[in-house]
Amino acid sequence: MFKDFTSEVMSYPGGEKITACLQCGTCTGSCPTSHAMKYTPRRLISLIRANQRDKVLESLDIWKCASCYTCTARCPRGIKFTDIMYILKNLAWKEQLKKGDKNIAGFYSAFQDLIEKRGRMNETELVMR
Ligand code: SF4
Repeated sequence: MFKDFTSEVMSYPGGEKITACLQCGTCTGSCPTSHAMKYTPRRLISLIRANQRDKVLESLDIWKCASCYTCTARCPRGIKFTDIMYILKNLAWKEQLKKGDKNIAGFYSAFQDLIEKRGRMNETELVMR
């Protein structure tokens, strides 16, 4: 068990440096999808450090990351924010599975099943599922 949400995120590869964030906002300024987010990358880090686990994991903003890695390349503290987004998505997915939420968790389960089954994506079958 973790003492807080920051420790939980830090326990995964890529999350180790989250306490080094100086809230400069370079990640948010570099992010091509931050204009569509309520909680931008800088703000998500702030929320993680404020132990706002539910608010972060229930936010749709973590699913808007385009995985372009610009934030990771530009962060002056070497924080791998794209990897942190993957950590958050994984944790959110597990929470949704626990709660029986079939929306986002169901979508990603279907996506993963299709890749395992066919070795590539079939959009038609994904939408059908
Ligand atoms: Fe924090 Fe790095 Fe983003 Fe600056 S660019 S707010 S140091 S994560």
